[in-house]
Amino acid sequence: RETLVVFVRVAPLTPDLTLLLVEDRTEAKRVEDVRRDFVANVSHELKTPIGALSLLAEAVTDAADDAGAVRHFAKRMMRESSRLGLLVQEIIDLSRLQVAGALESPEPVELDDVLAEAVDRCRTAAAAKNIDVVVAADRDAVVYGDHSLLVTAVRNLVDNAISYSEQDTRVSVVVRRADGIVEVAVSDQGIGIAAADQERIFERFYRTDPARSRATGGTGLGLSIVKHVAANHGGEVTVWSVPNQGSTFTLRLPESVQPIGPGIPAPSSE
Ligand code: ADP
Repeated sequence: RETLVVFVRVAPLTPDLTLLLVEDRTEAKRVEDVRRDFVANVSHELKTPIGALSLLAEAVTDAADDAGAVRHFAKRMMRESSRLGLLVQEIIDLSRLQVAGALESPEPVELDDVLAEAVDRCRTAAAAKNIDVVVAADRDAVVYGDHSLLVTAVRNLVDNAISYSEQDTRVSVVVRRADGIVEVAVSDQGIGIAAADQERIFERFYRTDPARSRATGGTGLGLSIVKHVAANHGGEVTVWSVPNQGSTFTLRLPESVQPIGPGIPAPSSE
């Protein structure tokens, strides 16, 4: 049930004529609420690493004579500051995506390249857990959009698949084309997501297990970014998951009809 918010103004024009202005402010109020929530969440999320950094700085000062302890705290400070850096970057990305209704300068993007780049960036995380990342690309899959945003989206899905899986498992990235739609499906054999959480995981800062998300360096913004990238490309992202068996996230994007490069030159009319 939605509450209707109206703004009413009464202006007497002449003794027997009154102007009644009724403005529907429902959408404006919703946008304002979303903005206020976002600012509150961001402040809360930023306080955690900033608080940790100041405690660690105190610890370093107190342990100045103990080289081993200083190294230990300094390492933790580096981890917290890179977490803070990632959080700030993702907040900026998300705010940009939220205001930008459409892409600035879309162009044909080959999904092959997007997948290769995204998977490459996850190699270290996958190797650390001995997770095999298998890619089945399609050389003809082309969408019209923004290469780096698509890399960000696919990388977030593959990163999550690795983070929420145990050692020695497999992650697959499969591209399919059908009926003008390009599908990128990222599947894992990980912890899965309960049905009640599946609708909420695309919300900003929503995590099913905040401790696990933080431990793996998660910001809680990844899927929200994926959702906005999909929407800005005229597509969507969905999830299918069975707890303790695994999850599949599917990105569906309209296939590009734009030719790549100069294409075949048109016959000359002369
Ligand atoms: P995070 O930085 O916490 O990973 P995301 O927005 O990427 O944030 O994901 C939101 C939440 O959705 C995660 O905290 C986790 O609970 C859940 N999630 C995302 N991907 C997976 C996955 N592949 N398997 C299990 N849970 C997942």
